[in-house]
Amino acid sequence: MPIPMTEYLEIDLETERWRCRRCAHDLGSARGNYKEGTLVYDRDPTEIHRPLIDPVRYEFTFAPDPAWCRILEFYCPGCGTQIEAEYLPPGHPPTYDMQIDVDALKAQWAARPPGTVIPLGRDVTAEPLRVSGSNQ
Ligand SMILES: [Zn+2]
Repeated sequence: MPIPMTEYLEIDLETERWRCRRCAHDLGSARGNYKEGTLVYDRDPTEIHRPLIDPVRYEFTFAPDPAWCRILEFYCPGCGTQIEAEYLPPGHPPTYDMQIDVDALKAQWAARPPGTVIPLGRDVTAEPLRVSGSNQ
């Protein structure tokens, strides 16, 4: 059963694997960091946050200094969807932003009625939790 975790990430409880919600590409063990299964674009922050004043005339331009900050963008290798982005010092490894207790997640979903769906991302509706075939 695929469990949505973010707009673009889900966990398949049977295989205990991270997957892309758009194309179902496998991104690695759900007990590990999904970022290890992504493509990473190490961006110069001045490409995104351009200097607000002339960098020829001024040392500080309100743009991030690339010697102190990098922007890592994480993409699905299957469909190219950008899954995450983060600002880090140069050379810092990607952060471990979601550590899922897979056993607890399995127990939580085993206790729910079959067909339970949590709408997320483009599937968001006014109801926070619904059960297929139910009028609740
Ligand atoms: Zn994908």
